[in-house]
Amino acid sequence: MALGLLGAHSIRAHIEKQKQLFFRILCRTSPGDICSQLFTHRLFQGLNNSPRLLGFIPDILSILNTYDLGTYLDQFLLTGLFPPKFAWKKICTCVIHNREETMWRDRLDLCSDFRLFRGCHWQLREYPLWTIARTNPGCLSSVKFLTSVCCRRASEENDTCHRCPQPRSIDVEHMLFHCPTTSTKISIAKFFDDIGALSVPLLTLLRGCSKDDMLAYMLGKIDSNFCECLDVDLFPNYLSLCYALIRSLPYDI
Ligand SMILES: [Zn+2]
Repeated sequence: MALGLLGAHSIRAHIEKQKQLFFRILCRTSPGDICSQLFTHRLFQGLNNSPRLLGFIPDILSILNTYDLGTYLDQFLLTGLFPPKFAWKKICTCVIHNREETMWRDRLDLCSDFRLFRGCHWQLREYPLWTIARTNPGCLSSVKFLTSVCCRRASEENDTCHRCPQPRSIDVEHMLFHCPTTSTKISIAKFFDDIGALSVPLLTLLRGCSKDDMLAYMLGKIDSNFCECLDVDLFPNYLSLCYALIRSLPYDI
């Protein structure tokens, strides 16, 4: 979750990217250099699966294979050509990000603990609420609170509410939409009134979506539909309304 909120890659991915960039430097050294000759010699040892070869060459061959970059190695071996510095950096950044995002999403899909989180945040990039907080420091406390709610794990299958007691999976969802002991219908009605004053298209969007989506929008989901309905300048006002509603729930969130 932490890496996902930051939109950050793993340390392993950073190391592999540095190795990919270093590989290009080696490929671009002048053929007359002793360094280039040594590199070529060891590269062919690696390609021939020399069992005694350790270190950078086996690592980079494995990395190129992992990221499906073998065609660039083949091209280099055939022609001696390799992509220019910025093109290669762009290629490496792109393949690493795609792989990291796929692995991150797979991890979220594997575990029901992340059901609420993946509804709010499904792309490996900085959580949009943090971006808003950076340009609007006044809403930082709201952002911290909403983000902490978004990161709450779903409960065990047979968990029940302490107040009703009905089965519940996600406590905030239960308190907001299902728990008969709360007066959230009035709170939600007031929330909709305030949203209507802010943006009628956004009110229409929230009223028309599922409860899962509505909760996700309240906790920071910002997609293209949302952006079409609300001016960027009004995001902090919207967040303060969401914060007031979720914070008012009679539960220790
Ligand atoms: Zn309840």
